Amino acid sequence: MGAPEFSNETETIFALASGAGRAGIAIIRISGPGSGPALAAIIGGKVGCPLKPRRATVVKLSDPGTSEAIDDGLALWFPAPNSFTGEDVAEFHVHGGPAVVIGALDALSAMAGLRMAEPGEFTRRAFENGKMDLTAAEGLADLVEAETSAQRRQALRQLQGELGKLYESWRERLLKALAHIEAGIDFSDEDLPGSVEAAAAEEVDKLVGEIAAHLKDNRHGERLRSGLLIAIIGPPNAGKSSLLNLLAWRDAAIVSETAGTTRDVIEVHLDLGGYPVIVADTAGLRDVDDMGDGGDEVEAEGIRRARGKAREADLRLAVFDGQAWPQTDPHTAGLVDADTLVVVNKSDLGQPAPPLEVGGQPALAISALTGDGIETFLAAAAERVAGLMGSASSSVMGSALAPALTRARHREALEECRAALQRFLAPTADNKGGANDKGGDDDKRDGRTPELAAEDLRLAARALGRITGRIDVEDVLDAIFRDFCIGK
Ligand code: GDP
Repeated sequence: MGAPEFSNETETIFALASGAGRAGIAIIRISGPGSGPALAAIIGGKVGCPLKPRRATVVKLSDPGTSEAIDDGLALWFPAPNSFTGEDVAEFHVHGGPAVVIGALDALSAMAGLRMAEPGEFTRRAFENGKMDLTAAEGLADLVEAETSAQRRQALRQLQGELGKLYESWRERLLKALAHIEAGIDFSDEDLPGSVEAAAAEEVDKLVGEIAAHLKDNRHGERLRSGLLIAIIGPPNAGKSSLLNLLAWRDAAIVSETAGTTRDVIEVHLDLGGYPVIVADTAGLRDVDDMGDGGDEVEAEGIRRARGKAREADLRLAVFDGQAWPQTDPHTAGLVDADTLVVVNKSDLGQPAPPLEVGGQPALAISALTGDGIETFLAAAAERVAGLMGSASSSVMGSALAPALTRARHREALEECRAALQRFLAPTADNKGGANDKGGDDDKRDGRTPELAAEDLRLAARALGRITGRIDVEDVLDAIFRDFCIGK
């Protein structure tokens, strides 16, 4: 894939590959031409280097500069090209205490030609050496970030190359169609059957359909990466905060809790049935009801934002006060739609009278105080979330197992690809009808030269190539790899 050949000028990099802080074991990774000599130096030459490839060897580590012992540990040797980065790689497994790790890192940085790795530099080298395409590298980043099982599954599939393979297969089909068109250009004076171009157009038409289906995925894959936003709405004292607290304190459910920028807005990250969700208490909404018409401008702005947040949320959770039931707060009821889960709270004070529904949406009776009905509510919420995430893996027409689009970067490139293909199928300039009829007999499609038609296909193929990193990637590399942690 046009990867730069490994050269002696490549610097050797090292980093702590495991997490920071005390741990049973810490892993230090070295990659580059200096890995072998560094490994030999640090294990004092007692075990010859290179060690047996890909086998763990018990070693004594010491600082070659001072001869001071650092630790007893394991060393592994992965000679190029059979390593994560494609370069010579050495790994040390040492005890995970800060002084041990610092001692080993200090010893390495004192060696000529070695330096600390930048964030994502190991993975970037793996990409540059053709070990993985860009979508796989992104999948690896997502896997490291994954907090729920559904996120992990999606990331793993991407790391294993499923998305890259899909885009590559589309690109190959395009290149084939392009070859047909180019044959038409090269042999235009000769007797080339018109059906060749027609066949190319037919293939492009099919591709446009597949790409359109892939794009029309309700952002399942992207949502799964970032988490689904749920806004809690409801009148004052309905129990919104109590419900959020209840959710937040469920064992193992809470991932993190952050105070938002807006007054009183709390966001809680939860794992709901394997899906990541962010539940936000849009506390500002309650003021809508308290204020009447006389609120001040600042508050009014706060409320507008809160309402905006409620609308922008993927799912709303409307909480009504059971003590007022069957009366419902009109502000909240006005926001209830098909993407709203409705609960009537305070069932411990008495079960709300049927029919349990608001605005055509069924309501569940719960008590945020006693936890009554919460399991049923959570199951219903998880089902809604799963529905919204879709099977994040079934976004391609005709294939339930096709991987999902996971990033805006991919979406933009695919839109660009589709636009170029549509230009190919239906050139706008001087085009009066019949443009979409898959070729026709005219070898200058609707008055356009085959050269121009070929250029559209080339642009489309290039857009696809950018996703996997086949071409034109320099500008996106920094953006992608800087999100990695050091040691990856
Ligand atoms: P918010 O204004 O909607 O956030 O409501 P809060 O969560 O602050 O609750 C308002 C009041 O209702 C508090 O005194 C809570 O203790 C009480 N409360 C909340 N949920 C329940 C419930 O399920 N049962 C009972 N009996 N009281 C509740």
